[in-house]
Amino acid sequence: MTIASFAQVQAYQYKGEIIMIVITKPSITDERIAEIVAVIERNGGVQAHVSKGTDRTVIGIIGKAEPTLAEHLRQMKGVENVIKISKSYKLASRDFHPDDTVIDIKGVKIGGDNLVVMGGPCAVETPEQIDEIARLVKAAGGQVLRGGAFKPRTGPYSFQGVGVEGLVMMAEAGKKHGLLTITEVMTPEYVDVCAEYADILQVGTRNMQNFDLLRKLGTIQTPVLLKRGFSATYDEFLNAAEYILAGGNPNVMLCERGIRTFETYTRNTLDLAAIPVLQSLSHLPVISDPSHGTGRRELVEPMAKASVAAGANGLIIEMHTDPDNSMTGDGVQSLFPDQFAKLLKELEQLAPLLGKRFDTDKAPAEAFKEWKI
Ligand code: PEP
Ligand code: MN
Repeated sequence: MTIASFAQVQAYQYKGEIIMIVITKPSITDERIAEIVAVIERNGGVQAHVSKGTDRTVIGIIGKAEPTLAEHLRQMKGVENVIKISKSYKLASRDFHPDDTVIDIKGVKIGGDNLVVMGGPCAVETPEQIDEIARLVKAAGGQVLRGGAFKPRTGPYSFQGVGVEGLVMMAEAGKKHGLLTITEVMTPEYVDVCAEYADILQVGTRNMQNFDLLRKLGTIQTPVLLKRGFSATYDEFLNAAEYILAGGNPNVMLCERGIRTFETYTRNTLDLAAIPVLQSLSHLPVISDPSHGTGRRELVEPMAKASVAAGANGLIIEMHTDPDNSMTGDGVQSLFPDQFAKLLKELEQLAPLLGKRFDTDKAPAEAFKEWKI
């Protein structure tokens, strides 16, 4: 390792760890919170992370504090409890942030009781293709246009995506039809350009533990949809999210997209239990991908509905106007536009029964006027 790259690795390192959290009384004032923070920070090298919930405020303590600090804080007026966090991930944990995280992107809310649907092709192919699919996603009531410009293909000879031009095509289609956009970013070098054109950056299953990429995504504020590695445990998944949060980007969504099991009938096994488990362990929104989760078109609709019933905050679904000729192999799992529209119509009826708000016209076209292209 060269001296320069060693220094870079050092600079990346997250300095410290949350060792405990302070839970305040519901009635606490902002002045009192500031006093508690001052006491915490009097311990040199210790930082306080204040997280304000609807009901109470939680203060995460990062760094190495005096052993007596917990006892001191416990005695302070306005403090209800001080607890040590023993999980390896901290900022992703619901202990640290008891309320659901709701990410607001140009008025579209992701998380909490809101249901969002992201739809579109596996890959952006041509301006006409993405424009027509965007029109159909919007018409069906979707809020986000998906499409890969950079494709992580298993084989090096397969179509790798149209690259930066695809980002431009997608941004134009999103702007024209009043949709947010999500696209995959595969390397740290491409994060800035992808963030310039897309509203949400997707980290694919194969990159869930690409730590350099995760660290880079921690340095920006663009929302990230982190897909679960196809053989990752919940703990590994949440630790991957922790890398982005620890870097300073709080806008992270988790995506269950199926895991590899002994079953070969389906492409992957969509782990529906992951949805409520992740929601109990973490405050981050959980999105389900029944397309990659099953790899079979006829299973997308039932698994989409099952995901919403299991509590998913959103769905990401592949839809194509000509799936038989899609440039990736994912045509077999892509819905036809009418199937996509029918599913969303049924979700509109299902969502309120499950305590979800599915606002199918939440992306006002005016919100997209200032879009940089
Ligand atoms: C995709 O969304 O097209 C994709 C490649 O997903 P995954 O990383 O889950 O395979
Ligand atoms: Mn795909």
